[in-house]
Amino acid sequence: MAEAATSPAETTPVTALPGVGERLAERLARLGLATVADVLFHLPLRYQDRTRVRRIGELRPGDEAVVDATVEHASIVHGRRRALVARVHDGTGGLTLRWFHFADRQRKQLVHGARIALYGEVRHGPAGLEIAHPEYRLLGPDAAPAVENALTPVYPATEGVGQATLRRVTTAALERLGRGVALADPLVDFAPDGLPPLHTALVTVHRPPPDVDTAALLAGSHPACRRLAFEELLAHHLSLLRLRQRARARSAPSLVGDGELSGALRGALPFALTGAQERVVREVDADLQQPYPMLRLVQGDVGSGKTVVAALAALQCIEAGYQAAVMAPTEVLAEQHYRSFAAWLEPLGIRVGWLTGRLAAGARRRESEAIASGETGVAIGTHALFQEEVAFARLGLAVIDEQHRFGVHQRLALREKGQAGGVVPHQLIMTATPIPRTLAMTAYADLDSSVIDELPPGRQPVETIAVSSARRDEVVARVGTACSQGHQAYWVCTLIEVSEAQAGQAAAETEAALAEALPELRVGLVHGRLKAADKEAVMGAFQRGEIDLLVATTVIEVGVDVPNASLMVIENSERLGLSQLHQLRGRVGRGAEASLCVLLYDGPLSETARARLGTLRETSDGFRIAEKDLELRGPGEVLGTRQTGAVGFRIAEPMRDAGLLPRVRECAESVLAADTAAVDLLIARWLADGERYGDA
Ligand code: ADP
Ligand code: MG
Repeated sequence: MAEAATSPAETTPVTALPGVGERLAERLARLGLATVADVLFHLPLRYQDRTRVRRIGELRPGDEAVVDATVEHASIVHGRRRALVARVHDGTGGLTLRWFHFADRQRKQLVHGARIALYGEVRHGPAGLEIAHPEYRLLGPDAAPAVENALTPVYPATEGVGQATLRRVTTAALERLGRGVALADPLVDFAPDGLPPLHTALVTVHRPPPDVDTAALLAGSHPACRRLAFEELLAHHLSLLRLRQRARARSAPSLVGDGELSGALRGALPFALTGAQERVVREVDADLQQPYPMLRLVQGDVGSGKTVVAALAALQCIEAGYQAAVMAPTEVLAEQHYRSFAAWLEPLGIRVGWLTGRLAAGARRRESEAIASGETGVAIGTHALFQEEVAFARLGLAVIDEQHRFGVHQRLALREKGQAGGVVPHQLIMTATPIPRTLAMTAYADLDSSVIDELPPGRQPVETIAVSSARRDEVVARVGTACSQGHQAYWVCTLIEVSEAQAGQAAAETEAALAEALPELRVGLVHGRLKAADKEAVMGAFQRGEIDLLVATTVIEVGVDVPNASLMVIENSERLGLSQLHQLRGRVGRGAEASLCVLLYDGPLSETARARLGTLRETSDGFRIAEKDLELRGPGEVLGTRQTGAVGFRIAEPMRDAGLLPRVRECAESVLAADTAAVDLLIARWLADGERYGDA
């Protein structure tokens, strides 16, 4: 039989695989699987270990296990839901099985003394360990134990495309490899020593052979996993380097200032810059003078004084005859910036503009006009700033605060902000969430980085204690005492997975309860649903000391700056991530007073929650907290993957694979220099919307 000519996996449609017709192809497309290459790189999320029988006595909740047991009894119970419940044992312990959907035949099969092989996830049940809806098979008394001889892959699936289909399709794709379908291995000349070739790695990961090092594969430390993780990290790194390369090839105005305005601001400030601020100001100053765009990330812990660094950069830009834009992720934070910038810059004769989505149409048009005419020197706002209709006369610098909340593509949109003659603005990105070095390389390789690693003098560390909500009354009393002594306090209400309206409602209830419990205090309330003017009025009153206790939702997470506030209570702190707690806590400890942060929790605490609260009690170093957060929650949460899409890794895990990163970096440089086609291929292979990065 004549073998068809070899075609690349990247251009071979899934319909070329035996058993894949048009209808299945349509369903596979829902998973983004259009080509044979797509199928090959649709990697298992994890594995089920059905290779050995586990003893019931050694099972723990959360285990997925094969069990070989004998049925004691089975019956239909009529609780809240009708269920078939069986009790089995294997001599080391007993296990309850539970089915909510079942056929009568099943009950009849599960007779006393029958031998049953089953597989499922073990949970805590009312009567000890149980498995809901186990897969099972009845075995004859002499049958061999029902185990597989290799690990079972579990793929990302979707409705209509289940595990069985995905296993069949990946098997078909692997069988075609080298037989009519070719898969390029762009790393043959570059791959690090000791890692298998691509083909071997894919076969191992999709169809682990029986003799594979099971533990290593499950842990992701097997050379096959590392080979693929290496390639994936490389692809991400390359996409960012290419982005950077393309950005660097653009022109930006060279912003050389005469220092008059920035000198005036320095003279007016009630403090001197810290050494770290001075260093970062110098780095930014040098970048702004270049004729290509600055792409700089300024990391500085909460309270390290990033705003004034941004203001000095804006002034340099204005001195050179250009406008600056400052973009914040929330209205509250934008307002805070507006207040700082207006207070600092308007005395210098600079118009500070204000543009957010909530602005009324008329005001919005006037602001847009002032931006377009060049009358506005610095425009402050939310993402409304980079909507189509806002055209800057001469935008020289875009400052983006709290970067991780904006997506990579938003960063790009701003970069593209309508520059005549292909000139783009400089970009200064500020984040208070320190980015662990391991992640920075993969997520922010397109940026240079500066760190403000010093707090203004006189700051005292915030003492942090965790208190069970059973002792809420004591905490309330403590708030009363502190406020009656002239201190101010925050009470932060947290609610997860509810609307802003519900969060606002809950905060309002808390406010009412606290006001009743502490009648001598002036209690205020802010949440995301208040009108901007009302919010500002409350925040202003708190800032002026006219409110003692501010009840708030997590909207105060960023930006709010009231030095006299020295006590913070965070309710349900166990629900929040470490970085978010750190941000919140950063609202206190800004003045000369010793400050206290009380983390109220609803017990019992999970192990993760315990570790989280423990870390906060131990350290106030944002970098350590971020590393820990990464360890506890993974990169998606830390960087806000859902928003950024920057780190949706399929197999790599930056923390686990950190050891690969230096080689990834070296390799990226060689590939970038040597082989454009390989760069394209890798980016297309590993980044679902590769173009988003590539078309910067
Ligand atoms: P963040 O880095 O969290 O954005 P801010 O820019 O809001 O911090 O600064 C926090 C507070 O510290 C502000 O009140 C600011 O005016 C003040 N600040 C900034 N730099 C200094 C400094 N060098 N010395 C004293 N206070 C400073
Ligand atoms: Mg800030």
